Amino acid sequence: MNDDLNDLYQEVILEHAKNPRNFRELPGANPIGHGRNPLCGDNYTVYLLMEGDVVKEATFQGSGCAISKASASLLTGIIKVKTPADVEALFGKVHAMVTTGHADDSMGKLAAFAGVHKFPARVKCASLSWHTAKAAVEGSAETVSTEGDNPKAE
Ligand code: ZN
Repeated sequence: MNDDLNDLYQEVILEHAKNPRNFRELPGANPIGHGRNPLCGDNYTVYLLMEGDVVKEATFQGSGCAISKASASLLTGIIKVKTPADVEALFGKVHAMVTTGHADDSMGKLAAFAGVHKFPARVKCASLSWHTAKAAVEGSAETVSTEGDNPKAE
């Protein structure tokens, strides 16, 4: 076990990985997003229910590492009552944070993932559910895959 990796497993991440929120299928969900990260083995389905132009309910199912599961757990809580434009804007902030390590005050608990920028292979774990939710609200039915983004295997 790499000591540096321990820095990643902060309390928020561990707690959400152990007790993921909204971890269930959602009957009647639409849109539904599928995302996978072959480098790590993360594989998730994100279920959304829209009411008008806002996300009314968000849940997820699937399996993967602690970081990807905690990220999906937080995502499904955070994107409720958000519009697709809000989700896209948040995706941009999360993506910037996990690639640069910079988190501003508005990130709240998501700031727990800022540390992954030091571990390029883990950036995909943290951002997978966000890629998946973004594709879903944008109406893409295709499975989001991180494969090919970065040829550097762990
Ligand atoms: Zn992972």
